[in-house]
Amino acid sequence: MKAEVDMNKGVAERESHLWNAMHKHDPDAKKMVAVSGEGSWFKDEEGNAYLDGVSGLWCLNVGYGRQEIVDAAAEQMKKLSYFPLTMNHQPAIQLANKISELLGAAYQTFFSNSGSEANETAFKIARQYHMQTGNPGKYKFISRYRAYHGSTMGAMSATAQANRRVKYDPSAPGFLHVAPPYSYRSLYSGTPEEKDLRAADELEEMIQWEGEETVAAVIMEPFISGGGVIIPSMKYIQRVADICQKYHVLLIMDEVVAGFGRTGKMFGFKHAAGVQPDIVTMAKGLTSGYLPLAATAVKAEIYEAFKTEGKDNHLRHVSTYGGHPAACAVGLKNIEIIENENIVNRVNELGESKLIELHDLMNHDNVGEVRQVGFLLGLEMVADKVTKEPLSDAKMGEIVGRCKQKGLIIGKNGDTVPGGNNILIIAPPLTSTEEDLDFIIETVSSVIHSM
Ligand code: PLP
Repeated sequence: MKAEVDMNKGVAERESHLWNAMHKHDPDAKKMVAVSGEGSWFKDEEGNAYLDGVSGLWCLNVGYGRQEIVDAAAEQMKKLSYFPLTMNHQPAIQLANKISELLGAAYQTFFSNSGSEANETAFKIARQYHMQTGNPGKYKFISRYRAYHGSTMGAMSATAQANRRVKYDPSAPGFLHVAPPYSYRSLYSGTPEEKDLRAADELEEMIQWEGEETVAAVIMEPFISGGGVIIPSMKYIQRVADICQKYHVLLIMDEVVAGFGRTGKMFGFKHAAGVQPDIVTMAKGLTSGYLPLAATAVKAEIYEAFKTEGKDNHLRHVSTYGGHPAACAVGLKNIEIIENENIVNRVNELGESKLIELHDLMNHDNVGEVRQVGFLLGLEMVADKVTKEPLSDAKMGEIVGRCKQKGLIIGKNGDTVPGGNNILIIAPPLTSTEEDLDFIIETVSSVIHSM
């Protein structure tokens, strides 16, 4: 039996000048301070070990403490400590080529430092592309309610969860939101797939009502992650891709969470046969979080519009640190590990043979739905299975807190209904051992059953 963590140890806000992300002010609450990590586990200053069941912020795809990645960064830093991508360096060229190979078609990649920036870059590229190909009126972006696309002004504008926006609005003009393919709480009737396809119909209607000549792009994650792990029918993704093509609207696929194996494919969109997005944004799993790096990969046909000879039509966009040589070297090593260790297949197999056990929790009165693709799981917690009233924030906090006490970090998120924060999130490192996965299953199950 693992010893329980003393939750009264750590650093209180009154003792620190650090402003934590997404935390309510509480001067006395003790927050653990991490000092080291190995595999799926990290340790705090008190020596407590925790299994990181959300991979940091869903980014530690290959887990903590991979010496080969540390070495790749150090060697690259020794050779060339910094270089801007207004010119070239080999790690960036090699990584851009590798991304194109993995995406399965010719893409040109622009590097930046975070998922938010990757999406901002995609928005600028989409608008400029239309402007330079005879459609200057196409400037609007459509995303889905509950989507999260980042924290900067444009990415926040595409984000459509009230609790992440209301205090910062008005957001950037030209961002529209449509219903997500959320069959569990759909207004429509029918099978989950039929409900999802109605959501796609709504998206098509929105383009028609707005005027196709005004719509630049649709941005979507293949599986909404931060908005509550929503897993649509693949026909929905295929249909959205068809709609985009029909109205000459670019499809921006946000693979910031799904990319690099999380869902049991190298990229999430690959679950939807025949879909090849115009722009793919990625970050997190690109370096497994070892260094900041993000990428905006643009189909070669789109890139054509930025290189017509004799025309001043290049992308007026630059990032001082984007594509840092050490970050690109880390990205290359990280992908090498994912490929050499066959991590994508592993996620498929262990997702099906192990994590699937969490679906048994559906028997519990407070578990409304268990949604899973690979190592991305969401448990929709409800107070009542018939009314689907979200489980209270207090109860959700209790579950997450009890798991932490037992040495397991899991997340909660959602905005399922305005103010509802009732999805438990489990997204462990893709290298988690079978024992690690057993620990997650046992801990989450025992905490939920003890409620
Ligand atoms: N897109 C998605 C789907 C995300 O989940 C996130 C972050 O969680 C982002 C974009 C923004 O990434 P970053 O925090 O690196 O800016």
